[in-house]
Order: sequence, then structure tokens, then C-alpha cells
Amino acid sequence: MAQNGVLLELRGVGKFYGRGERRIDAVANVNFVIREGEFVALLGPSGCGKSTLLRIITGLAPASAGEVLYRGEPLRGVNPHATIVFQTFALYPWLTVQANVEVALKARGVPPDARRERALKLIDLVGLDGFESAYPRELSGGMRQKVGFARALAVEPELLCLDEPFSALDVLSAEALRGELMELWTSRAMPTRAILLVTHNIEEAVFMADRIIVMDKDPGRVINEVEVTLPHPRHRKDLRFLAMVDRVYAAVAGETPKDVTMLGVAPDEAGKTEMLPHAPINAIAGLVEHLAEEGKRVDMYRVGDDLGMELDDFLPTVEAAELLGFVTVQEGDITLTPLGQTFAGTTIIARKEIFAQRIRHQPTIRWIIEELQAAEEHRLAEEFFLETLQRHFTPDEAERQLDIAINWGRYAEVFEFDDDRDELYLPI
Ligand code: ADP
Ligand code: MG
Repeated sequence: MAQNGVLLELRGVGKFYGRGERRIDAVANVNFVIREGEFVALLGPSGCGKSTLLRIITGLAPASAGEVLYRGEPLRGVNPHATIVFQTFALYPWLTVQANVEVALKARGVPPDARRERALKLIDLVGLDGFESAYPRELSGGMRQKVGFARALAVEPELLCLDEPFSALDVLSAEALRGELMELWTSRAMPTRAILLVTHNIEEAVFMADRIIVMDKDPGRVINEVEVTLPHPRHRKDLRFLAMVDRVYAAVAGETPKDVTMLGVAPDEAGKTEMLPHAPINAIAGLVEHLAEEGKRVDMYRVGDDLGMELDDFLPTVEAAELLGFVTVQEGDITLTPLGQTFAGTTIIARKEIFAQRIRHQPTIRWIIEELQAAEEHRLAEEFFLETLQRHFTPDEAERQLDIAINWGRYAEVFEFDDDRDELYLPI
């Protein structure tokens, strides 16, 4: 039986893919509960297993280890009490808004009249009144995502799971839709008992959630939990809001391990491929220079603001600087290392040397250099690298990985990129 209104409980949940040497631990030993009435955010960097956990919780994929309890009972097969809203909702282009919402109800055998009534009510609820007979192509991205929400709500899930539902929208639509969801949730206009929001956006989590479960990757795991006690509606400029963002920053960034070694393997090796943080060299250099001016230990949150960087750009930049040994991170503060100070204060040529020396050990960079050394005329098509990267990352991510690698490699002059022929080559 459910105790203290516990809706969902994860006990030692793990998920791995592959076996033996090739085994990848997507998530390991995850424990948490979600209670009735809670809005919980699962926050962590890309690849830490957030979507994997949602698939396990909704029963779309089995866990490899541990147990998922729903209202005290072990979950077997698809969870009938939970639904997911994805980043981009797959609407049927040949169906109207109303028919798209009705689809889920039809699948559950709800009779036509009841279907129609419930669909119309939800369309109204999400603010799409008047668009019942429109087709998806006639709608903006924000409106399409509202249809996705209406469809997910149509089956009246007890647990609504949201997998980065705002990240594909433009800034304004995303903010509007967040506000509308909070309005629905806090006014109890929807029968949903709990919401689990997956996000990699700290402010979004602080804006919406009662509790933030912080994850990290390699392997995907829970590293922290933060209660957000601010009343709704929350205001982003509010001092308490900012202080909370700061606290979550500290929880996310954790602490630099004593020996910053480069973890993970190259894309052509077995095991978990190390991911390059999405940080171009000018951002890394900008951060290091800024810290050199500020001196000593600085509040991470303030640095991001000073540099005018979005969190999604700032965090990877800090991660990159950390990976390179230029900074350390502790309790939400960031400190320049002696190497970082040297980097900031030296000539362009010396900077390139320091940078080259650091990145040569990074598995992806090392792999590119080795492939080029072995290749005829030390040249290889960009395609060659993309194909291998696509075995580990989505096509988009594979391209970003190569873009970052080329950005770093070019700056450090460890390899070059020929824009005309789309080839990488070793400088002579
Ligand atoms: P997130 O949603 O946090 O970005 P995911 O849950 O999508 O993370 O992925 C977690 C990890 O599991 C990643 O390293 C990913 O590469 C790996 N992974 C996910 N699905 C598969 C799969 N089908 N086969 C192998 N690895 C996978
Ligand atoms: Mg995901």
C-alpha cells in the first residue's frame, strides 16, 4: 500500500546497455520517491540518464537492476498511471488538433461522445480554444506543444512526466507555456497528482519545482537534492529566487575531483565515450580572463551574469575550463588554478601551447590526431569522424562534438580543417 502519499519509488534502479567490456551504465543505483502533490524536477547534464529514467518510470523500458514501485506495488510493463510529454510532440499531421488529442482516448476505448467532450475541455484548458479543427502545420511550435500537453492530460495521468518539454521552443513561447502549466498545476485545474519534469536548465527547475533531484553523468546517478520552498508565482528577479539558483548551482557543479583526470574513452574504443563540453575556445578564454581580473574565489552565479552568458552556455564553459585544469569548482564558487592564471597572463603562442598540451589527452582529440597520423597524407574526410561519432551520439550531437573538437584543435594547432574539402589534416 502507498505510504505517506508516496506515488512512486525508485529503489536501486540501474540501466545498462550492452554487456561485458562494452557495457554502458546509463544510470546506476538511483533512489528517490515522488509524493502526491509534488512537482519534482530531475536536473542534470545531457547524457546523465534523465530520459532513461522517465522511460523506466513510465514502463516503456525495463530497469536492468533495482525496483520501481508505484503506489507501493512493483511496476510491471507499461505504467497506466503515467504519461510523458516529449521535447517535440509527434502529432499526426493529417489529424486536426481535436483528433490528435482524441487519439490517446480512442486507444483506451473511450466512446466517441465522451472522447469529444474531454478533448474539447482540454483544448480549452491549454488555451487552444478556437483551434479545434486546425491542423498541426497551421500552428506555431508553442501551440503544437500545447496540443501535446492536452493529449498527455487527456488520459488523466496521476503522474505527468515531462522530458525537456520547453527546450525546443523559442524563449518567449517557452516562458509563456511554463507560466500556463504552473497556473494549471497550482490551481489544481488538472487531475494530475504529481509532475516529474526533466530539465538541464537550472532556472527552469527553480521556477517550477518543489524539489530538485540533481543528477550527474558517468555513470548517470543522483548526486544531490534541493528543496525549493519559494511560493508561487515565482519571479526570476526576486532575490530569494536568485539565492536559490545559486544554491542549485552549487549542488550541480559539485566539487572538482582532486585529480582532474580525463575520464571516458575515445569514440573508436569500447565503453563510454567521453563527451566534449559544448564550449568554444573563446568562451573558455573569456572565462579564464574574467577570473584573472576578479581574482581568488568567485561566486559562480555572479560570473555567469557578468559574462552575460546563458546557463546552458556557461555551465559547459566551466566544465571545459575544469576539464582543462584552469579552474576548480567548490560549493558554487569557482577558483582559478595556477595553470589558469598562467594561461590568462601569457602570450597567444604560449596559450596555444598550454591548450594543446592539455587537450592532447582528451580521448576524442587524441583519437582524431591518431587517425590523422595513420591516414594517407594525414588527411581524412569530416564524414569519417562523424560516422564514428554517430555510433555514440545522436547525429546532431555527433556534429556538435566534431565542431567543438575542430574548434579546440584548430586553436591549439594540433590539427587543421580544410573548409573547401571538408577534411581534417595535420599541419606540417
Ligand atoms: P539524458 O536524457 O539525461 O540526456 P539519456 O537517458 O538519453 O540521457 O542517456 C543516458 C546514457 O545512456 C547516455 O550515455 C546514452 O548514450 C546512453 N544510452 C541511452 N540509450 C541507449 C541505447 N539504446 N543504447 C546504448 N546507450 C544508450
Ligand atoms: Mg534526454
